[in-house]
Amino acid sequence: MNEKHMNPAMITGNGQPRSGFVGSRLHNFGLTMVVMGASFVLYYLGLFGTVDGPLTPANMGAALSGLGVTQRHVIMVLLSVLVFALCWNWVFNLTSALVGARMTCKADGKGGDATCGAPVKRTRRHSKRSGQTVVAYVCPHGHRRSEAHFHPVKKGAFSNTVWIACVAFVLITVFYIR
Ligand SMILES: [Zn+2]
Repeated sequence: MNEKHMNPAMITGNGQPRSGFVGSRLHNFGLTMVVMGASFVLYYLGLFGTVDGPLTPANMGAALSGLGVTQRHVIMVLLSVLVFALCWNWVFNLTSALVGARMTCKADGKGGDATCGAPVKRTRRHSKRSGQTVVAYVCPHGHRRSEAHFHPVKKGAFSNTVWIACVAFVLITVFYIR
C-alpha cells in the first residue's frame, strides 16, 4: 500500500503506536517548513540576486569592501572553518586515544560470542623482567587485556555539510569573485 494514502487509524489497529508514525511525519513536516521559511527569508533579503536586498551579492560585496574586508580575508576565514570542520574529530580521537578514553573491554562476554564492552581504564606498570612498561586495560568486571576496543567519533551530517559548503565557497571566492 502507498504510504502516503495510509490512514493513521489503521496503524493503531495492528498494535503499532500511532504517535510514532504521526510524530515522525509531523517532525519531517516541521523541518520542511523551517527550511522553506529560511529560504523565503534569504530570498527576500536578496541572497539569490533576484530581489534587491542587503544580502544581494553585489550589495554584500560593496558592504564588505567598505569594511576593508578583502577577498583574501574571506578565503582565510573560509579555509580556517574548513580545516576546523575537517579536523575536529581527528584531533578529538587522537586526544582520546592518547589519554585512553572511549575504550571498551575486548574480553568475551557472558553470551559467548559477544564482547564484554564495559568501559576500561588504562593502567601502566613497569615490568622488572623485561625492563619495559606494560600497558593493560582493566574493566569493572575484572578483565585485564593488553588491548581494548577504541570508539572513534565520526563526523555527522552537520560537519560534513559544513566542510563541503566551505570547499564550495572557497572555490567560488577564488574563481568567480574578482
Ligand atoms: Zn570486561
